[in-house]
Amino acid sequence: MRTVDIIEKKVQGLENTREEIEFLINGLLSGEVEDYQMSAWMMAVRFKGMTDRETADLTAAMAFSGDTVDLGDIPGFKVDKHSTGGVGDTTTLIVAPLVAACGGVVAKMSGRGLAHTGGTIDKLESVPGVDIEKSIDTFKAIVKRIGVCVIGQSADLNPADKRMYALRDVTATVRSIPLIASSIMSKKIASGADGIVLDVKTGNGAFMQTLGDARILARTMVAIGKHSGRKTVALITDMNRPLGMAIGNALELKEAIAALSGKVPLEDPLMQVSLALAENMLIIAGIAKDTEAASDMLLKAVKSGEGLKKLRQMIEALGGNTDYIDDPELLVSTEATITVPALKSGYIGMMDSKTLGLGAMLLGAGREVASDVIDPSVGILMHKRFGERIEKGEAIAELFVNDRSNEREVISLIEQAVCILDEKPEDIPLIYDIVSEDNVN
Ligand code: URA
Ligand code: CA
Repeated sequence: MRTVDIIEKKVQGLENTREEIEFLINGLLSGEVEDYQMSAWMMAVRFKGMTDRETADLTAAMAFSGDTVDLGDIPGFKVDKHSTGGVGDTTTLIVAPLVAACGGVVAKMSGRGLAHTGGTIDKLESVPGVDIEKSIDTFKAIVKRIGVCVIGQSADLNPADKRMYALRDVTATVRSIPLIASSIMSKKIASGADGIVLDVKTGNGAFMQTLGDARILARTMVAIGKHSGRKTVALITDMNRPLGMAIGNALELKEAIAALSGKVPLEDPLMQVSLALAENMLIIAGIAKDTEAASDMLLKAVKSGEGLKKLRQMIEALGGNTDYIDDPELLVSTEATITVPALKSGYIGMMDSKTLGLGAMLLGAGREVASDVIDPSVGILMHKRFGERIEKGEAIAELFVNDRSNEREVISLIEQAVCILDEKPEDIPLIYDIVSEDNVN
C-alpha cells in the first residue's frame, strides 16, 4: 500500500477502504506516513467528504490508536455527555451530578477551554485543591463509589487525534464535518462509555454556524455511535446567546451550584438544556422510560439537594476544598467588579456569544493559545437574557476583574455583542432537534 495512492483516491472522490484508513492512522503514529501526507489527505476529506462507513472506520482507528478505558467492571450503564463547545455552557457540572443522583453512572473525561469556549476541567479547577489528573484506577474507584467523576483526558488516550488536530489547526482542515465527528466520537469511544448524549451547538458562538451543518454533524456522530455499538443521542441547541448568565470558570461553577440548589428558574436556557441532556442520559441508560419520567426524577434531585450533594462529593473526591461549594461567594472574589451600562433603552436581541466569550478570555478567563494561564475567578456575569427589557443606564453585564488593563476593550466588546432592539424580538428556539438512532439510517 502506498500513501500517495490512498490520498489520490480521496482526491478523486472515491471511498477509502478500512485497511487504507488504518494504514494512514497507524503510519502517522509510526512515522511511515508523513505529516504533510496526512495533511493532504485531510484536505481531500475536507473537499470530498467521507461516507458513514469511512467515518466509522476512521473513528475506530483513532479510538484504538492508544490506551482505551475499560469501564466494564463498574456496574450499570455508563453514560457520557459531550458538548461541541459553547459559551456560558456549564451544563456538565449540572447534568453529571443530577444524573448520578438519579442512579445513573457518569464517567467522563473532559477538556480545557480554548479561545472563546470554556472547558469543564478549568471550571472544576477553580476550587482550590482539585486535581483532575487522576489515574484511571482512581477515576474508576470514584465512579464506583459515588456514581460520578469528571477528570481530564489522560495523556495516552487517542494519540492519533492529538496529532491530527495539531495538523488540522494549521492547515485549514478543522472545519470538516467527518473529521470533527470522528475526532469527538473517537475520544468518547476510547474513554469507555456505553452511551453518549451529545450537545451540538449551532449559531454565532458555535463551530457549526448553520442549523443545516449542525444537523449533518449530529447525524454523522449518531451514525458513528450506532456503528460502534454505543447508544448515542444528539441534541441540537442554540448558541446565538450565551447559555447561562455566567461566562468565566468560577462564575460558571457558582451558577452550576445555584442550578443544583434550585435557584435558577426552570425556564432559564441553562436549566432547559441541562434538563433535556440529563433526561436523554437517563433514558438511554434505561433508568427512565420517557422524558416525563426522567424530568420528574431530575426535578426531585434538584429539590432534595441530592444533585448538589453529588457535586460536592465529586469535588471532595478530586481533592477540592468543599468550603467553596458550601459558600460559592468564596469562588468569585476579584479585586474589582465593574458594571456595563446599556447605551439605550429597548429589548435584548440576539447576542454574539463568541464575542462575549472572547471578552471573558481577554479578562483572563480563557486561553488564546493552549499554554496560556487562566485566572479562575474573573469573567462576565450577564444581567439580562435574550428578549428582556432594558432601560438606558441599566446594567447589561458585570465584569469580575483582577487585571484591569483590558477593561475598556471588554466593555466595548460587550456593547458590540449585545444588540438592543426597539421591539421585543420573537423567540428563537433553544432546542432545535433531537437526533437518535431511530432517525438516522
Ligand atoms: N472538538 C473536537 O474534539 N474535535 C474537533 O475536531 C472539533 C471539536
Ligand atoms: Ca495528580
